[in-house]
Amino acid sequence: MTTTRGTCLCGDLRFEATLPTKWVAHCHCTLCQRAHGAPVVTWVGFEAAQVQIHDAQARLQWYASTPGAERGFCARCGTTLFFRSIRWPGELHIVRSNFDAPVDRDPQVHVHYDTHAPWLVLGYDGLARKPAPADQETGTSE
Ligand SMILES: [Zn+2]
Ligand SMILES: [Zn+2]
Repeated sequence: MTTTRGTCLCGDLRFEATLPTKWVAHCHCTLCQRAHGAPVVTWVGFEAAQVQIHDAQARLQWYASTPGAERGFCARCGTTLFFRSIRWPGELHIVRSNFDAPVDRDPQVHVHYDTHAPWLVLGYDGLARKPAPADQETGTSE
């Protein structure tokens, strides 16, 4: 397994990425919740140079969700696929659910758990549930 890939819902937006990933994390922040219509979003961190985006129909649009941070989505089907931020220079984060090929690691941590949706009950998974976004030791976060 040296590469992986995925798509948006309609398939117009595709990506290929060279492994390894940098990290995989469950994000419980309120912006991810709103942007994805989901209580938690699982992100895969890559060096941006390892990712190729195929967008023949020019569907990729970027929404600046906070100063310095952007969320990339498909203008045709609305799928939010990507995240990039000046806080994580050189990284591109991709939504785990949109991969249709294996990724080289399982989720490692919950971040922004202080704003988790109280109506979703998670079973114990052995992973740390951190209130903060970034962690200096693991480099995981959204
Ligand atoms: Zn699409
Ligand atoms: Zn988030």
